Amino acid sequence: MKKHLTSSTPIDTAGRRPTWAEIDLGALAANFREVRAAARRQRGPDFSMMSVVKADAYGHGAVRCARALASAGSDWFAVALPEEGVELREAGIKQPILVLGGFWEGQLGACLKHDLVPVIYRLDMAEALDRLARESGRAASAHVEVDTGMNRLGMRDENVAEFADALAKFSHVRVEGLMTHFAAADEPARDDFTKRQIARFGDARRTFVARGFELKYTHHSNSAGTLTLPRGAHVNLVRPGGVLYGLWRDVLPPTPESEAFARRLCAVLAWRTRVTLLKRVAAGETLGYGCTFETNRESLIATVPVGYHDGYPRSLSNRGHVIVRGRPAPIVGRVSMDVTIVDVTDVSGVQLGDVVTLIGRDGDEELSAEAVAADAGTISYEITCGVGARVKRYYLSD
Ligand SMILES: *Cc1c(COP(=O)(O)O)cnc(C)c1O
Repeated sequence: MKKHLTSSTPIDTAGRRPTWAEIDLGALAANFREVRAAARRQRGPDFSMMSVVKADAYGHGAVRCARALASAGSDWFAVALPEEGVELREAGIKQPILVLGGFWEGQLGACLKHDLVPVIYRLDMAEALDRLARESGRAASAHVEVDTGMNRLGMRDENVAEFADALAKFSHVRVEGLMTHFAAADEPARDDFTKRQIARFGDARRTFVARGFELKYTHHSNSAGTLTLPRGAHVNLVRPGGVLYGLWRDVLPPTPESEAFARRLCAVLAWRTRVTLLKRVAAGETLGYGCTFETNRESLIATVPVGYHDGYPRSLSNRGHVIVRGRPAPIVGRVSMDVTIVDVTDVSGVQLGDVVTLIGRDGDEELSAEAVAADAGTISYEITCGVGARVKRYYLSD
């Protein structure tokens, strides 16, 4: 089992603002293997692993993550948009790529050219795919999404028979997969809802099979489903995202089993910056925009070059904390666009240039993306996805 990132990792940010993210590709690959092993224990060996790398791999960097996951044995990748699939193809990713969001006006050509498999959930999508595939002289694969209760993407399950009948007429569309998505697989209190989704999905599958569709893949499991659901009949592909990045506290059901499994995962992303200015501030002064924090003692205040444009949430104002020299230091005043201030009065020996950990481990102290998200009133995905473009990612491969 790998250990978590430490700030002793030497990252040379010379020539740049010293605010950076460390992406541990070794941890990513290790997480992938742990998830696959756990899924095999649940389901036996006969399923494919589709790594979800949409949204730039949840902010971790899709190309580098996909390469690492491909080496670790990922059979498939999933992205949200055709353009994300094109990016992976242009970077040399050879595995099949499923486009979860489908496609929009003018994007089908790129899907066919780059061999991206779209998810379809409207008949006009199938029609467009059929037309273009026919023109290019070969069949095009697609997965059909059934809405079994989430009421987001997917065709409503009461329309499945009608949809399948209509689809059967499109000779150049090869329906290779049937899928659905869970609304609450991470909530034990909603287990009955999830079971109902599974039952409806089974009905949809039978409807397709009865009409002669040869479904190569049927799939429904996100991270929570992959790790908690027993082997499902006919389900032969899983689509974990978050757990691959070591995110689990707000991803998996809050159960002892999840926790036991999660001990085997490690966070892939660390986010750090450095102290840019240190100052003594007398008791009774206010800090930052809006004067929202007033010192009640003489304080040592550190200014760090990260703000909400970098994706450091403004909702952490006067709420969250960072780690300096292995000690927690509270955020004081408002997080602003480019700058944040922290109270380091209780951290001994602080110096200009010290590493400040926003997410990650420093010494014995660890700050998870989930904990930062909880302070900010959101979920870990929004935090990692939000790490801004001006925060350079450094990839650690081992
Ligand atoms: C994002 C997504 C996943 C992965 O979800 P996680 O909770 O990150 O595992 C799986 N399937 C679909 C359709 C998705 O949109």
